[in-house]
Amino acid sequence: MTHASDDFPVANPWYMSERLDDRITVITEPRVHPIFSANMHLVEGSERDLLIDSGMGIAPLRPYVDSLRQSPDKPLVLLSTHTHVDHIGAAHEFAERLVHPLEAEEQADPAPYSLRSADLSATAIAMFKDAGYPVLWPALVDAIPFPGYDLDGYRLKGAPATELVRDGDIIDLGDWQAEVLHLPGHSIGQVGLFDHESGTLFGADAVYDGPLIYQAPSMSVPDYAATLRRVLSLPVTRVHGGHDPAFGKARLTEICNHYLSIWGL
Ligand SMILES: [Zn+2]
Ligand SMILES: [Zn+2]
Repeated sequence: MTHASDDFPVANPWYMSERLDDRITVITEPRVHPIFSANMHLVEGSERDLLIDSGMGIAPLRPYVDSLRQSPDKPLVLLSTHTHVDHIGAAHEFAERLVHPLEAEEQADPAPYSLRSADLSATAIAMFKDAGYPVLWPALVDAIPFPGYDLDGYRLKGAPATELVRDGDIIDLGDWQAEVLHLPGHSIGQVGLFDHESGTLFGADAVYDGPLIYQAPSMSVPDYAATLRRVLSLPVTRVHGGHDPAFGKARLTEICNHYLSIWGL
């Protein structure tokens, strides 16, 4: 059986990055469909560096991340904000892995996922469409990372947490600290990070500047509403979300109020 992927162009490098300031770099996978194209954020500190999420795991990520770091010899810690396929794909490439206890089981033994859109459930496809995403492509990608890449060989690898993080914990990079925020709703054990000093919020899939996803059976609208109200109450200056470009406080307020109003909460 032949697949359309046989004709897919090769995209090398697979990842793209943009340095946002002297500490934060965003990494993306531009050849992944927008629904599954998540942001990874590299935050560099004096003692250690932090990577927030690890994408789809379609191409090796660790060498790319190291190529961006000012001191690749420093320890590097991975935080998985939650365990959806687009956030944990390359987690197994990192030795230190943080996750919330409610996502730990899934991170250790993730449910299988396919890169063929035909393998997605009708419910998932309808949910993405209703949320406002562009129609799916035949595959979750429109390119492959190297010649001969086998889309059907895609497997999510288990990467058990080496440390659990909970609401209120502090992630300390030496000259930079952020508080772990438990932000349930989109996912039961999702966490974000808040840097009180600069007002920078890493919102994960709780808040980003695109269609929010809250309709799956594993998700909770009341929890999501409480999360958005909590985020609104923080002295935020900048938001780096799990998808889409960064934005400021005014846009954050618009996004949160929009969803709170359509939910009637
Ligand atoms: Zn996501
Ligand atoms: Zn998600």
